[in-house]
Amino acid sequence: MILPCNPSISNKNAKNEGGYRVPVYEIFFSFQGEALYTGVPQIFVRFAGCNIKCNYCDTPYSIAVSENTQLYTSDDLFVKILELYKNNRQKFTAGNPFIAFTGGEPLIYSEFLKILLPRLKKEGFSIYLETNGTLSQKLKQIVKLCDVISMDFKLTSECGISFWKEHRKFLKIATDNATSETFIKCVITKNTNILEIKKSVSIINDIAKKTHLVLQPSVDKNIPAIEDLYKFYTEAKKLIPNVSLMVQMHKIYNIR
Ligand code: SF4
Repeated sequence: MILPCNPSISNKNAKNEGGYRVPVYEIFFSFQGEALYTGVPQIFVRFAGCNIKCNYCDTPYSIAVSENTQLYTSDDLFVKILELYKNNRQKFTAGNPFIAFTGGEPLIYSEFLKILLPRLKKEGFSIYLETNGTLSQKLKQIVKLCDVISMDFKLTSECGISFWKEHRKFLKIATDNATSETFIKCVITKNTNILEIKKSVSIINDIAKKTHLVLQPSVDKNIPAIEDLYKFYTEAKKLIPNVSLMVQMHKIYNIR
């Protein structure tokens, strides 16, 4: 059975901590597989439910709530994270261990995160948020609790809708918060066009020029030509200083 995901319903009763439960698809230890923190050990919490639908989605099982998801209260999830950390402690190096919240779209559950994140931070964890960058008002609720924000720019050629306005607002909120680091990831496919790259770069240039842009070629479907990747990279570098072309490591090693 697939349950539709409605962000406003998902946040209902959030303040009733004991009774509020969120759908989690999986919780696991792994190494971050993409963008600027590639290779960094993290505990991943993958929520189920997403507010958009991208053609290239590599976690389609997490787009909707299904019978494969488990409902967690913040108490349950807190305990589960601590337990997983304890079992993998030796794999973490010096510094605050990262908990990565991913999905689906974790910001759908911003009210829940508002309860859980302070408890994790108190335990010494750093918070890594992976988000599609479309729910700016929800980001506002927890931005001060995030240490790293990995936001996507979703391009119309693969996601069907224009998100520029929302990405602009989201990036502003993320980068105005001085205590977190924000970078942007853009999945490139053979359908990506140069105008989308120009638009992405002009938004970054307007709002926070030094924000790092990671161009990430799709390796599953609609794989882009290397010539296009070079072209997009060169175009981006004309306007902003921090651009990288990076593939997903976990796909190469076939790990989560
Ligand atoms: S935002 Fe992420 S989880 Fe949602 S459909 Fe796109 S790629 Fe999949």
